[in-house]
Parts: sequence; structure tokens; C-alpha cells
Amino acid sequence: MKCPKCHSPNTQKLKVIYETGTREFESTSVGYKGAFASSSGVSQSKLARIATPPARRSMTISWGILAFMGFVDYCGMGTHDTHGNSWGLISKFLIFTSPIIAGCVYQIYKASQYNNSAWPNLYKKWSDSWMCRKCGNVYHDPT
Ligand SMILES: [Zn+2]
Repeated sequence: MKCPKCHSPNTQKLKVIYETGTREFESTSVGYKGAFASSSGVSQSKLARIATPPARRSMTISWGILAFMGFVDYCGMGTHDTHGNSWGLISKFLIFTSPIIAGCVYQIYKASQYNNSAWPNLYKKWSDSWMCRKCGNVYHDPT
């Protein structure tokens, strides 16, 4: 596998760079900058960032808020007897929580859409991407 830019055979899959070297790159990136300036055109922190696989969108926060809002509404339901007004408090809770619930549902919907359609392609592209260790060129080659 040769780099299409400088034709160096010293290339590596991003996946391999990430799995074997991310910790090394991260620890060296906090060190003295000048140490790497001569050996590579790409800084070590940038290298670690390029080699990092695309992240799936997290739904944890949205689910957490959703569960909490559900709990708030559930608490509102339990209060109907004490005030003699069965819908007073629950309706206030619903007015307060429904936009947040709708927002969370929308976020979860968007995240799952991204994870199911866009992310697999990005991940596939990342896993078929190579980096030249000589000139730092990143290129896609599924062979
Ligand atoms: Zn190259």
C-alpha cells in the first residue's frame, strides 16, 4: 500500500494507528512540541484526532431527561386528592414538561437516524482509510 501523494510505502490504516497508538500519541502530545517538529509534518495530537473513529451519537442524556420528566409527571398524578383539584398540578407539570419531552424525543429520533444511516458509512470509510506516516496524507482505499 503506497501513499498516492508521496509514494511512500510507510502507510498505516487509521484503525491500526488508533488501536495501537492513540495513548502513545496523546501522552506525547502534551510533551515538548519541538521533539516532533522535525520527524513529522503532522502534530501528534492532530494525528490522534484524525485516527479517532467517528462517534455514535449518545442518547443517554436524552433518555435520562425523559425518564426524569416522566417521573415529574408521575408525581403530579399522585397529588390530585390533596388539593381537591385533580388536574391542577398535573396540567402544570405537563405544560412544563411536554416541550422538554418533545425535545428529548426529537433528539433521540435524530440520534438514532444518524446512528443507523450516516454513522455506518462514516465508520466504514474510517476503517478503510489509510494514513501516510511520511507526509501525513489521509486517503480512502477499501482494498
Ligand atoms: Zn505520503
